[in-house]
Amino acid sequence: MKLEHYIDGAHVPSASGATFHAIEPATNQVSLTVAAGEAGDVDAAVRAARKAFTDGPWPRMNGEQRAVILRGIAHAVESRDEMIAEVECADTGLPITQARGQARRAAQNFRFFADVISDLGEDVYRVGAAQLNYVVRKPVGVAGLITPWNTPFMLETWKLAPALAAGCPVVLKPAEWSPLSASLLPQIMEEAGLPTGVFNLVHGIGETAGAALVAHPDVPVISFTGETTTGQTIMRSAAAHLKTLSMELGGKSPLVVFEDADLERALDAAVFGVFSLNGERCTASSRVLVERSRYAEFVNRLAERAAKVRVGPPADPATELGALIHPEHYERVMGYVRSGVEEGARLVAGGSRPEGLPDGNFLSATVFADVTAGMRIFQEEIFGPVVCVTPFDGEAEAIELANATQYGLAAYVWTNDLRRAHRLAHSIEAGMLWINSQNVRDLRTPFGGIKSSGVGREGGRHSIDLFTEPHIVHVATEDLPVPRFGVG
Ligand code: NDP
Repeated sequence: MKLEHYIDGAHVPSASGATFHAIEPATNQVSLTVAAGEAGDVDAAVRAARKAFTDGPWPRMNGEQRAVILRGIAHAVESRDEMIAEVECADTGLPITQARGQARRAAQNFRFFADVISDLGEDVYRVGAAQLNYVVRKPVGVAGLITPWNTPFMLETWKLAPALAAGCPVVLKPAEWSPLSASLLPQIMEEAGLPTGVFNLVHGIGETAGAALVAHPDVPVISFTGETTTGQTIMRSAAAHLKTLSMELGGKSPLVVFEDADLERALDAAVFGVFSLNGERCTASSRVLVERSRYAEFVNRLAERAAKVRVGPPADPATELGALIHPEHYERVMGYVRSGVEEGARLVAGGSRPEGLPDGNFLSATVFADVTAGMRIFQEEIFGPVVCVTPFDGEAEAIELANATQYGLAAYVWTNDLRRAHRLAHSIEAGMLWINSQNVRDLRTPFGGIKSSGVGREGGRHSIDLFTEPHIVHVATEDLPVPRFGVG
């Protein structure tokens, strides 16, 4: 199958004819030939989007008018959600049951931002009876959206929905390892009646197509999700044009279990948090910190649970853990497994390819115990089904260990002591924290991290803030006192 760009309402190859190949993670066989966008292709997409911004109807519609089309997009996603799930499963190695959930969430993203934009008010400041100052939110301009390969369709729609809701035409650059589901978007957008030129898609390699989008002077806002080091490169390049940026980056999120926690529920959350979505999840609870009195019991039970996680072909509905995205990524994850063993961590589950699954990037659910803060597997984002377990003594050490990495995306605290839970919530350095809960998203809340996990927030009003500029208008509603300046 061949995939092309979608620019100004037309499917087009790269101007140079350049292509790259994508593979299926379950077999590592080449499945796609994809147009490899270069600076000229990105420029054509930006010009189309820019024209839609300066001359087209989209930025001029009111929120409710845009919401009608966003609901149409949600409907178009829902009407083919099984196909989207199958495509995503084949292209990324996600288990089909989980890919279905992601397809449903994609539709929800559009419905949610349709509601946000149609309900959105604007601020008014009154100065007595004499002056009224009101804020008008204007779409920023062409939005550059750069997305990673984990849950690609969901993450693409998580950026597309608010950008479109805000009135911004977009250029989307999907990840090179997972280009397939994005190629369904042009038809979805057309079916819903989105005006031509508002949605543009340029496939390609990050260092070429992504970099050209970031460097383009007519793209004032970049929303990026990906690795911390890529985020740093993007921030440096975007500085030349002082762009607005949202950076959703890596994580190494702790799940802290106190002696008094409901251990069974904490185990459920730990297993779900790091082994669902193949462990390729930015908010994965990849470090589990357990109070020493329950440590041995927790490690044993987590290892037992991990051994029961069903690794298998992504398309099999019984599969819980599918194939990792790419042999290169698989090798990186296996490198961390080797590093854990070499550094003296105790491998208590997984760590190798399960029998009977020879071809794709399959790895058993892997648990390391006795991990210390100095080890690489404690410090670095593995982005696979590998969890590190570390004991702690008391609250102060729990906080110290939780904060002992460069990341600050998410955290999870399990304790039945309410006051301690809140103390931890305020002391752990993370953008998002859950108490006695697995990761459950509320789309209205600010999503994002601190430290090396990101800059800015998306979600609800925060996403609309990203894609709009507040414009303040001051109106005298009575004659103001005459300014006495330069008068006799
Ligand atoms: P990368 O940073 O490698 O890539 C993300 C996107 O950026 C891809 O489309 C990539 O293209 C592109 N890109 C690469 N280099 C550049 C560049 N110089 N300029 C512009 N664009 C570029 O991330 P991964 O795809 O490997 O995704 C995994 C990472 O994403 C993990 O670190 C994970 O934690 C993070 N993530 C964060 C989330 C959050 O909300 N905080 C959510 C989900 C994931 P190409 O594909 O060609 O490399």
